Amino acid sequence: MELGIRDKVAMITGGSLGIGLAVAEGLAAEGVHLALCARDEERVVGVAEQIASKYGVKTIAVKADVGKAEDVNRFVAETEKAFGGADILINNAGTGGGETILEAPDEKWQQYWDLHVMAAVRFAKLMQPIMVRRGGGVIVNNVSICATQPLPYEPVYNVTKAALAMFTKCLANEFIKYNIRVNAINAGLILTPDWVKTAKMLTEGQDSTWESYLDQIARDNTPIGRFATPEELAHFFVFLCSPLASYCVGSSYYVDGGWLKVVN
Ligand code: NDP
Repeated sequence: MELGIRDKVAMITGGSLGIGLAVAEGLAAEGVHLALCARDEERVVGVAEQIASKYGVKTIAVKADVGKAEDVNRFVAETEKAFGGADILINNAGTGGGETILEAPDEKWQQYWDLHVMAAVRFAKLMQPIMVRRGGGVIVNNVSICATQPLPYEPVYNVTKAALAMFTKCLANEFIKYNIRVNAINAGLILTPDWVKTAKMLTEGQDSTWESYLDQIARDNTPIGRFATPEELAHFFVFLCSPLASYCVGSSYYVDGGWLKVVN
């Protein structure tokens, strides 16, 4: 199927690993040029080079912590310098947690708020004039099923992702008049390094291994009984970025193996 996004430019935050990397590869396979950012410079530079040579697209890599306003500004500026702007923005960078509300210090709330919410707010304000100049654009926020169905061990994550879901809706309403479509994807269990890190943390000193912990989570929670690969999820991101999704505006799409327990 021709998706009609060849030679578009996409910015992906956290494009060096996990879901962000899979989306980067999915878009590159459709001929989209890429600006990737992450904090680990060596890794994001390596990934950008590999994708460029594998798919024949142009790529840049920018070291940036998107929880910081100055790094958000720099990522946008570097993308403008390299490509004259971007047509697609994937707000993907994010991370899970492990705390109770009583334990979590104010600094943790602030850090997750900056990473999951303020990054998307800042990118939106910077990208609006750029996308308008290019005739429109697409923004996809990688939210989470936890925005509506919280996991018990990570309230700070759940709350900040819920805020990102509401920001997505408000932004979609405000930006559609500029021909900028904004949507969210609420993924369920996607087997990425972040899950492995969380599983190792939660099973440290316990009887079960992190592998059996993950397997049990999938069987306990999802009707499908397994994690998805990042690539399975990336297909949906790529579709939402394409003109084939032209009537998709302001929605949160669940890709969760049936995990969501309500009709939403
Ligand atoms: P990974 O930890 O596997 O990858 C995260 C990516 O984001 C890496 O490239 C990392 O690179 C980058 N990153 C992390 N923090 C920052 C930051 N402050 N600034 C810039 N880049 C950053 O995570 P996942 O792929 O699992 O998760 C990606 C997104 O998907 C997150 O927002 C997560 O909440 C969401 N999600 C994940 C699900 C899952 O099951 N995996 C389910 C639902 C949602 P570096 O460390 O070098 O900065």
